[in-house]
Amino acid sequence: TWANVKEGPPDAILGITEAFKKDSFPEKINLGVGAYRDDNGKPYVLPSVKTAEDKVVESGLDKEYAGITGVPSFTKAAALLAYGPDSKPLKEDRIAITQSISGTGALRIGGAFLQRFYPGAKTIYIPTPSWANHKAVFSDSGLEVKQYKYYNKDTIGLDFEGLVADLKAAPSGSIVLLHACAHNPTGIDPTPEQWRQISDLFKEKGHYPFFDMAYQGFASGDTDKDAYPVRLFIEQGHGLVLAQSFAKNMGLYGERVGAFSVVTESAEEKKRVDSQIKILVRPLYSNPPVHGARVASEILNDPQLHKQWLGEVKGMADRIIKMRALLKKNLEELGSKHNWDHITNQIGMFAYTGLTPDQMDVLAKEHSVYATKDGRISVAGITTGNVKRLAEAIYKVKG
Ligand code: PMP
Repeated sequence: TWANVKEGPPDAILGITEAFKKDSFPEKINLGVGAYRDDNGKPYVLPSVKTAEDKVVESGLDKEYAGITGVPSFTKAAALLAYGPDSKPLKEDRIAITQSISGTGALRIGGAFLQRFYPGAKTIYIPTPSWANHKAVFSDSGLEVKQYKYYNKDTIGLDFEGLVADLKAAPSGSIVLLHACAHNPTGIDPTPEQWRQISDLFKEKGHYPFFDMAYQGFASGDTDKDAYPVRLFIEQGHGLVLAQSFAKNMGLYGERVGAFSVVTESAEEKKRVDSQIKILVRPLYSNPPVHGARVASEILNDPQLHKQWLGEVKGMADRIIKMRALLKKNLEELGSKHNWDHITNQIGMFAYTGLTPDQMDVLAKEHSVYATKDGRISVAGITTGNVKRLAEAIYKVKG
């Protein structure tokens, strides 16, 4: 029956983990995975999550199904976190929202919704480069995927002119994916002024924004600051769709907690959109899992826990910022003649080092430092214990 099924290529990131596991060198370093590690290199369960989890268990809730769109106390709080307490569309009850299987599920529901209902061409523009899964998620949703310029490899910074030129050249009314903060993989975000210019350009061209916000709070340590572009676009009168993930900012990776929302023009429009989201979700997975959403809801809705959580998000963001500075300092102390400012200018979990695929190969084979071939390293995997050896390895490979 399956004679015509050819073996597909392994997932690039999982391949790195395999190679890392096989390496017997005790000081090996894994900078491939996009998951936060503490300064001992260990996975981190947030204390606020532990407390919330205890509360959820103690409350003795049953295990009945949630509705199709999930746990209402969670989705309500998730919308508030993203759009802010002063959000006009929230106050006017014109945001449709559904719980999703983390950020990936939110993107997929969004892709399917746009494929079914977006009135223009079913094409989405994603940045070059983008999160490795965007292309597959959107093309599997039935959208055509095209790209726009984002990264300038000469400056290891944003190619703003290229971005503007490509989005100007795209047909009017195109769907465009934007990383709300902490762009993955480059760690390079537009400045607030550039976001304003992008918003103006969207208005001029009638483009439709799809925001992917997988790192709210993780970039700057401030959830309001990280939501700036989403709130700016709304202030400027744009309709938009938004994918949220709580994998990173609550460390709920495997619990798969996320939300997909649509900012509509009226409460009546919201109702129609909401009904169609339900029709879309029902045959996909019927209804989402409840445990992680209950934990997130507990954190977001309890003022004390919410405050504690914000402190813990900031703690994670600050440790990453500190590791960036330490890596740069170590490289400079070794006498590296390259400019490493980009390491500290970039934001979020990843740093785009500018190292070539060949150099990344040498890092793995000769120095037991594992990361993706595009030169992206997960700063979350750097610790005070391994940063010196990491800098020495990079210095030996690149000079
Ligand atoms: N979008 C981006 C930009 C990401 O980096 C990630 C996680 N790596 C996701 C979405 C989705 O992650 P998850 O499904 O675990 O929430």
